[in-house]
This record gives sequence, C-alpha cells and structure tokens, in this order.
Amino acid sequence: MLTLVLAATLQGPDREIESIIRKMTQAEKVTMIGGSGFGINANKRLGIAGIEYADGPLGVRNFVPSTSYPAGITLAQTWNTKLAHEFGVSMARDAKARGVQIMLGPGVNLQRIPQNGRNFEYLGEDPKLCADLAVSQIKGLQENGVGACIKHFAANEHENDRHMDSSEVDERTLRELYFRPFEEAVKQANVASVMCSYNKLNGTYTSAHKWLLTDVLRKDWGFKGFLMTDWGAAHETIGMFNSGMDIEMPGAYYWKPENVNPLLDSGTLDKSELDRKVRAMLSVMKRFGWLHRRPKAKGPLNSDLSLQTSLTVAREGTVLLKNDGVLPISTRAKNILVLGDNADPVVTNGGGSSFVTPARSTSLLQAMRAEFKGKATVNYVDTSRRLKTAFSVTKWDPAGYAVEVFDNMELKGEPVYKGRVKTLDNDWDQLGLAADTPKDIFSARFTGKFTAPTTDRYYLVHSSDDGLRVWLDGKLVVDDWKDQGATVKSVEIDLEGGHTYDVKMEFYDKMGAAVARIGFLPFDLVADHGELDRAMEAADVVVMATGFDSTIEGEGYDRTYTLPATQQALFDRVVKAGKRPVIVHFGGGAADYHRWLPSISGFLFAGYPGGIGAQAIAEIISGKLNPSGKLACTFPAAYADHYAGENYPVKDNKLPYTEGLLMGYRWFDAKGLTPDFAFGEGISYTKFGYSGLKVGRRSVSFRVTNQGKRSGSEVAQVYVSRPAGPDKRALHGFAKVKLAPGQS
Ligand code: BGC
Repeated sequence: MLTLVLAATLQGPDREIESIIRKMTQAEKVTMIGGSGFGINANKRLGIAGIEYADGPLGVRNFVPSTSYPAGITLAQTWNTKLAHEFGVSMARDAKARGVQIMLGPGVNLQRIPQNGRNFEYLGEDPKLCADLAVSQIKGLQENGVGACIKHFAANEHENDRHMDSSEVDERTLRELYFRPFEEAVKQANVASVMCSYNKLNGTYTSAHKWLLTDVLRKDWGFKGFLMTDWGAAHETIGMFNSGMDIEMPGAYYWKPENVNPLLDSGTLDKSELDRKVRAMLSVMKRFGWLHRRPKAKGPLNSDLSLQTSLTVAREGTVLLKNDGVLPISTRAKNILVLGDNADPVVTNGGGSSFVTPARSTSLLQAMRAEFKGKATVNYVDTSRRLKTAFSVTKWDPAGYAVEVFDNMELKGEPVYKGRVKTLDNDWDQLGLAADTPKDIFSARFTGKFTAPTTDRYYLVHSSDDGLRVWLDGKLVVDDWKDQGATVKSVEIDLEGGHTYDVKMEFYDKMGAAVARIGFLPFDLVADHGELDRAMEAADVVVMATGFDSTIEGEGYDRTYTLPATQQALFDRVVKAGKRPVIVHFGGGAADYHRWLPSISGFLFAGYPGGIGAQAIAEIISGKLNPSGKLACTFPAAYADHYAGENYPVKDNKLPYTEGLLMGYRWFDAKGLTPDFAFGEGISYTKFGYSGLKVGRRSVSFRVTNQGKRSGSEVAQVYVSRPAGPDKRALHGFAKVKLAPGQS
C-alpha cells in the first residue's frame, strides 16, 4: 500500500516545472516551441539551458569526424540485443564527448519495399526484431545520460516524394506492424522524444495528425517525452498546434510568434495546450538533469571503445548467404583478385542525414590486403572508373552555355534570368547565378555545343535533383523528368569524332538540392586494355564488391532494384573468363542478383559496414571469423513476386499498403513463394542441430548443439502462427548463443 501511495505522489505535477511555467511569459513559451536549428532554445532569463541534438542513428553526424557505425540493417542482422545495447552505450559516449544531449535515432520504419532509399538506416522488415533492437539501443543511450529520438512516426517506408505522398494503411496493420517499434520504445524504454515523418498518413500530414500523436502515442501508450517535427515537415499552424505536436524543427516557420500569438490572444488556440508542450520539453530536461545546465563535452572525441563496437557490429552483422565451399578462402590460394565499385575507396554507409564522416576508415581492398598479408597476394584492377569521372573528363565548349531560368517547374513564360555558365555540370548552390534567381520550384534551359573528341560509344552520364532532359542535335537522349535525389545514371550513345553537336538540357527543381549534371565518358576510357584479363587469368579467387553507396542509395529518393549497369557488365566479363566470383553486396536490402546466383561461388551481404567494418568482411573471407549474421529482410527470387510491384511507383501521391499484414516474409509465406534468401537465413562455417522441442503454456524450450568443428554463434528463432491468420507465422522470440564444438 505504502509503495502505491508513494508512486502516486511522485507522478503528480512537478513543482519546479510548474513554477517555471507560471513564470514564463507567453512570448517565451512560444519561442520554445520553435526549434533552434538543431535543438531547443535556451531561456536565459529563467535559466533554462536548452538542448542540443545531433543526427542520428549511425553515429554523431553533426560534429565530425566521428565513429561511423555500420548501418541499421547491419545491426539488425546481428540479431543481438546485447550488442544493440552496446551500440547505444557507445553512441552515448560519442555524443557526450561533443556535448550532444539528444541523438536523432534510432530510425525504425520497417523495410516494406527493397527500394526505399533509407532502408539501410532502419532495422529490417520484422516489427519484433526491430522493436527489440531499438529498445536495447535506446536503453543503452538513455542509461548513459543521452536522450534518444525515435523516428519517423509513422508509415514513412519510401523516400520518393516523401513530402507529398500519403501512406494509406489500415489501423490493424499499423498497430500490429508499423507502430510496434514506436510502442515498445515508449513502453519499455521511456524514449525521450519522437520525431514525426514527412509523409501523410491516410491523408493527413503526420506532423498534424491528432489521432496518431495524441490518441495513440500519448493516450494509448502513455508517451512522456516530447514530439518534434522532422525538418520542414510542418505544413500548418492551427492543426499542428492542436494535434499534440510539441516543437517545430528546424525552427519556427508556421509557429513563428507573429502567427501563434494572435491566435492565442483571440482564443483560437488554447493556452493550456501551449503549457502542455512546454511542460513536455521541460520534463525531459529535468529527467536528464539538463534543466539549468547543459552538460559539458566530456571524454575522448573518437574513442577506441566506440571503434571496437562498430567493428563488433560488422563482425556479427555480415551475413553469408551462399557458399559453394570456396569460403573461407583456402590457404592454397596464393592470388586473390579484388574487383568492383565498392572495393575501393571505402564505402561506409548510404547517404543523407545519417551519413557520418568517419574518424577512421578502411576500404575492403585495404582490409583484404591487411588480412592476407604474408599469406596471399591481393591484386586489384580498378575497373569501376566510376561513371562520375565523366563529369571531370568532359571537354566543354570554351564558349560556355547559355542558361535561362524560369520561376516555375514547366519552363513557362519569360525567363526570370538569362546568363552563361561554363559547363553542363551544375550544382545550383555553386553556380554563382544572380542571387535573386529562385532556389526551389524553378526550371532552367541550357543550350550550347559539344564536340566529340573521338568516334566511339559513350556513356552519357547524368545526375539531377530533380528532373532532367537532354537533346543532342534535336534528338531526345535523356528523359528523366521526375522528382528525385541526385543519383548517377547513364545512357549509351554513339558519337562521331570531331562532330559538333547542338546540346540542349532542361531541368526543374522542386525542393532541397538543385543539381543538373551531365558528362560524356568514352567506352575506351572505361576499358582497361587487357589488364583485367591478365589479372583474372592469374587469380585463384575473385572477390567482387558490388551494390550501392552513399551517392546512389540515400535519403530523399528511392534507389533502383537493379544493380548499376557497369557492375552487370563487369560481372558478365568475370563469368566469361571462367571465374565464379565471391560477391560482397553493399546496400540497405535486396537487389536484383537472381541471374548472378548460379554463376557465383559465395555471397556475403554486408548491409553497410561503417568506417572500419570492411575488416570484418575480410576476416570472414579468410576464415578468421565465423559468420553469424542472419538476414533481416527477404531477397525475392523475382521482383515480380514482391507486393511492391502492386502499388509502386506511387500513383497520384497515394501509396496503399495493399498487402496489409502480409508484409515482408509474411507475404512470401502466404503466397507460397520461395525467395532467393529468406528472412532469418544465414550460413555459418559450423553446423547447428536442434532437438528436444517442448512447447509449454508460456514458453518454448529446445536444445541447440554445435555439431561442427569450429566455434560459432547461432540465432535461434521462434515463430508463432495464429489460427485466424492471415499471416502463416510471425517472429515471436529469438536468442543468439555462442557455442564451442560439441557444446549445447
Ligand atoms: C531527416 C531526419 C533527420 C533530420 C535532421 C531530416 O531530413 O529525415 O531523419 O534527423 O533531417 O538532419
């Protein structure tokens, strides 16, 4: 009885906070609900210290260089909640060394479709796995005095047009799948903060979604922290004020004093709701001991302990999916050839707000050379000649290019600006055009000449944010007219040496970055004049690092399901030379490898390894490390098998989640489709046996035995099925155990 009474008293209003709220003027409260750029404004008069945040889920992005951790998908592939806790502890250490109080992570949107540009940041396709890892990570952060901000609430499972699209999802699907990580983070980890998403949910922007933010988050789950908008996710003043949202980030735009004060004065907005918002933020400050003092930066900026954690995550999170027996590479192999776009320079993670400039990094090539030093020669041929070099090798017309800028996205009416630029490789921020040309919602036409240096087949390489069209001598050769982030793409064209082509390039920008780049790369420059053939002939084993990187998979746009054309061409050449390569795939999830599988001898999925995680991949290849990662997403055998095809790309800015509860592996189960690699799958260098299954009323027990010759870790997974379906099974529990040979 006594404890009950005590608990009730403790939960009453906090006297100190209430007294601050009484002392605050309305103007001061309104200042507090508009962000300070990357935090909460201080109030000097009342001695309120304010809060500093940093991105994000994969390391402290805002104060770099810093430890670059492996991607969320790699963490998910560890299936290790203890390690997820350590991930949080480690990131708290890096944050505290920089005086950061709240880390904007973890990101827990589920991997619904393989193309989502931010899948790599998130924790896979299963809500149970995602929730357990997120809860552990948040505890690791918060137990060490750094707040977490779980994001993006909710149903932000794709990036293209994320500011415009509405995710159309029924309530049961939301509650059973997409809400679960958020719910557990509130209930089990008392998460300090939640960030809304950019998209609409069933027609309403989540930043102003009262049912979502108040009824579900606060009332149903008992959320005690504060809610922030994503950066620029606000769209209105009144609806957002009444929805339960607490602070507009990065700063007050809809909630600027001149908007909010008159509405409060006239009674249109409720002053007690303003107090509630302020109370939510002050309560978090008080809970973490920051009310009157911001913590001083303390500890080493780039601690070896953090680096070690990042490596451990890569060690446990790299998944071996196919092994014909080539791995680990035999000690008899004396010549290893490393190839591929992602071998060198280092690929740490996908792109966007989670990207951390690494304090230390190792490319896969460097890691392989270190790992095999004194045992085998590691040879490398730079075949990738990344298409990007096209931008720097193109010889532009010395006369430059005429540019006309329009204040709309359709090149309509009279140009608002006319001028000249030196090349057709233009980033608006660096153009130096008249300062008053628009920076968003505009279009531009560039015209001029290009003389092909040689008669050859060329890659016309292009990259734009957003739409781009290119004509050569009046013929449309690039038609990429859509909202997108600046990925590098190419088309192949035949050009005549010495011929001067009329070039016209049209471009539009909607929001954010404004990039319009083209370049011409002769095939001859991509060719290697026999070096590759000689290297392949000498090689005992070929290791090819493929997939995506921060320039072609990242925030703000979705990536392709297919692999870059240059990688496909290289693969065909390797196979034609009679080699069966070991593939190391980098990416946030599945990509179109199906046709490759019969011709490869090994397949490793790294996710993204962070700054130094390539070492873990090299250790698995050499056999020093026994792989223990398991997939956290499904690799379909054909894209056509995936429900994504039903409603993606998005039409009319509406994205119906037509598969409902049958998301991820649940779909493949229900439809009887066998994927290339299934959720939960992953090969070890040893063998595990299962026996003695006992199903009790509240528990399940069984024995796992290491039946092989080397020690290794196994992830035991328990799925349940419910008679009423519609899913055939759902992950219900898992445990990772390390076992010596013969041990159970
Ligand atoms: C992202 C958030 C991020 C924020 C601040 C937004 O574009 O969606 O995840 O925390 O930027 O960088």
